[in-house]
Amino acid sequence: MVDAAIVRPALLPPLAPGEWPEEVPVLIVGGGPAGLSAAVLLAQRGIEVLLVERRGPESRFPRAHLLNVRTMEVFAEMGVADDVYALAPADDRWRKVVWYTSVTGPTPLHGLKLGEVPAWGGGPDAERYARASHRRFSNLPQIRLDPLLWGHADACCPGRIRAHQEVIALQQHGTGGVTATIVDRHTGDIRRVRARYLVAADGGRVSSSLLGVELEGPRAIRDVVSYHVSADLSVWAEPDALLAHFIQPSGQGRTVGALQALGPLRYGRESPEWLVAVTPRPDDAPAPDDEALLGRAREMLGLAPDHPMTLNSVSHWQYEGVVARRFRVGSAFLVGDAAHRHPPTGGLGLNCAVQDVHNLAWKLAAVLHGWAGDALLDTYATERRPIAAYYTAHALENAGRHAPIGAALGLGPGMTEDEGWAEIGVFVSDGPVGDERRARVADAVAANADDYSQLGVEAGYSYEAGALVPDGSLPPGHASPIDVSPIEYVPTTRPGHHLPHVWLRRLPGHGGPVSTLDLVAADPLTLVVGPAAAVAWQDAAAAASTSSGFPVVVVVVPDEDSDWTAVREVGDTGAVLVRPDRKVGWRTGAVPADATAALRTAVAALLRGSAAAEGDPAEPYLERIRRAAARLRR
Ligand SMILES: Cc1cc2nc3c(=O)[nH]c(=O)nc-3n(C[C@H](O)[C@H](O)[C@H](O)COP(=O)(O)OP(=O)(O)OC[C@H]3O[C@@H](n4cnc5c(N)ncnc54)[C@H](O)[C@@H]3O)c2cc1C
Repeated sequence: MVDAAIVRPALLPPLAPGEWPEEVPVLIVGGGPAGLSAAVLLAQRGIEVLLVERRGPESRFPRAHLLNVRTMEVFAEMGVADDVYALAPADDRWRKVVWYTSVTGPTPLHGLKLGEVPAWGGGPDAERYARASHRRFSNLPQIRLDPLLWGHADACCPGRIRAHQEVIALQQHGTGGVTATIVDRHTGDIRRVRARYLVAADGGRVSSSLLGVELEGPRAIRDVVSYHVSADLSVWAEPDALLAHFIQPSGQGRTVGALQALGPLRYGRESPEWLVAVTPRPDDAPAPDDEALLGRAREMLGLAPDHPMTLNSVSHWQYEGVVARRFRVGSAFLVGDAAHRHPPTGGLGLNCAVQDVHNLAWKLAAVLHGWAGDALLDTYATERRPIAAYYTAHALENAGRHAPIGAALGLGPGMTEDEGWAEIGVFVSDGPVGDERRARVADAVAANADDYSQLGVEAGYSYEAGALVPDGSLPPGHASPIDVSPIEYVPTTRPGHHLPHVWLRRLPGHGGPVSTLDLVAADPLTLVVGPAAAVAWQDAAAAASTSSGFPVVVVVVPDEDSDWTAVREVGDTGAVLVRPDRKVGWRTGAVPADATAALRTAVAALLRGSAAAEGDPAEPYLERIRRAAARLRR
C-alpha cells in the first residue's frame, strides 16, 4: 500500500542499498513518528540524514491515533496531512467519548450508557478549534500512520531510511559528534556510523541508558492489556463514538477498560477492527493462551463467550509518567517517547513527539547551515522538557478523571458484584434519588472536558525561556504561565506562544484567504509587520540577516485584514518575529527609532537563547506528576 501511494520528489541524494556512509550530518535512531518526522523535516531543509530502525516498516500495534491541530500543521508542512485526512474517518460523528457499563450483556444494566462528552474539536467545540488552527484535529491509528510516514520519509530520503538496523552502542566524541554501532538484524553485520548530531527517537528502548540519562518519575502505575481485534460489535446501541470507557462493579469504582474503533473506512459500531484495553484485576492470573485473553475482552464487553473475535495482536504495558532529566547529551538529542512517556489519556504522546522534532529540526538545520551557533541547540531542551513534563502531568491527571464517575455512581472498594450492580440500578431508578445520582454522574463525566476539550493544552502551551526574547508579559487572562486553563486557548503574540491563526483576505499575491500560519517561512525567521513601518522593517531585516547570518524575511499584512489587527497585540508600526516552528520569538509594540539595532539585538538574543530564570522549570509539573500518580495508585 505504502509503496504505491507515496509519490514524492526525493529531497536528498539517494544512497544505494549496500552503501553506508562513514559520516552523516544527522543520524536518527528509530523509525516511529518522531524519527520519521525528523527525517522529513530535516530533509526539507537540505540536511542529509540517515535513519536506522530495528524493525521494518510493516504495521505495528495500533497505539496512538489522535492527531491534534498542531501536529496536523506539522504534517501539512511535511506534505503528509492530505494523506492522513484521506485515511481518517470521513465525517465528524466520531468526535465524542462515551461511558458505558459494557457494550451489551445479560441484564438491562449491561450495555447501559452513563454519559458522553464532545471530543477532539467536535460538537460545540468545532468553532473554537477552527479558530485555533486552519488544520483539523484528525484520527488515524499508528498501524496506518507509521507506514504512511515511513513511505513518505523513504520517498523524500531515498535509501536513507533503513529497516532492521539496531543501534547497540553510542560513543560521544570530545571533538563533537557521536559514533553509533549498528547491527543488521538479518545478517548480523556490524557497522559504525559517525554523525555530527544524533536524534534519539527510539521510544525509550536504549538511548537513555546508552547516553546515561536518568528518567524521572513514577513507573508501573497501572497494568493494561490491549488487544487489537477484528470483531462484529454492531449489537452495540452506541452508533458513532470513537472511544468508550467501561465502568463495572468489578473495577471497584475505577474503569475496567476501554474500546476504540480502529476502522478502516467504517468507524463507530460498524468498525471492523477494535482496540480493547483491559485493566487486569489484582487477582488475575496470566492468561495461558490467546483464547483466554479474548475471553477477558469478551467478558468486559459483555459479549457471549463464543462471540466471534479474531486477535490480531496483543500488548501488555503499564502507565508510567517519566521525563528525561536531560534532553541533550553532547551531540545527542532525546525526542518523543525516548525523552518522555505517559499514559495515552489525552492522546498527547505522539503529538508531543512530533512537536519535539519540529522544535529541533529547524535549529539543527540552522546550526548545520552555519547560521547559528551551538547555543541554539541548547534551547531544544530548555523549551521542550517543561512541556513534556506538563503533558505528562496532564495525561496522568486525565487518567484520574474517570474514578470520580465510578464514585458518583456509588461504586467503591470492598463492594461485592451484587452490591455494585444494585448501586448502578439506582442510576436508572425513577424519583429524586435516581435524579440526584444521574446529576452527580453527569457532573463527573463533564469534568472530562479537561481531557477531551483540552485545546489549551494542545494549542496554547508556551515556552517561557529558550530561543525567544521574553517581554515581561503574562499569558493573556492568566496570573501565571503555569496556571493556565487546559481547555481555553487564547491566541496571543506573547513570545514563546504559537503565532495566532487568522485568515488573511487582503494579502497581495494570494488568490484566496491564507492563514497567518502559512506565511511563516520554513528556514528563515519571519517578521510580520503592517504597512505603516514596512520600509523601516525591511531595511532592518536585511541588515539583521547580514549581521547575524540568519535570514530574516518580512511579511507585510495590510491593515484592512482586521482579523490580524485584532490579535496581533502590537501597534500599526510594531512587529512580530516568528520562528520557523511558528512560535513567536520576539515582538515590539511600535517601531523604535533604530529599528535595525532593535531587530539585530533581538535576533542575536533569540539565537543565543536563554535559560530559565531560576530553578528547574519542569519541577512544578514533576510535582503534579507525583501527586497524580499517587492518586492513581490508591
Ligand atoms: C495504547 C496506546 C495508545 C496511545 N494513544 C495515543 C494517542 O492517541 N495519541 C498520542 O499522541 N499518543 C498516544 N500513545 C503514545 C504514542 O504511541 C507514542 O507516544 C508514540 O509512538 C511515540 O513515538 P516515538 O517515535 O517517539 O516512539 P515509537 O513510536 O516507540 O518509535 C520508536 C522506534 O524506535 C525503534 N527502535 C527502538 N530501539 C531501537 C534501536 N536500538 N535501534 C533502532 N531502532 C530502535 C522502535 O522499533 C520504534 O519503531 C499511545 C500509546 C499507547 C501504548
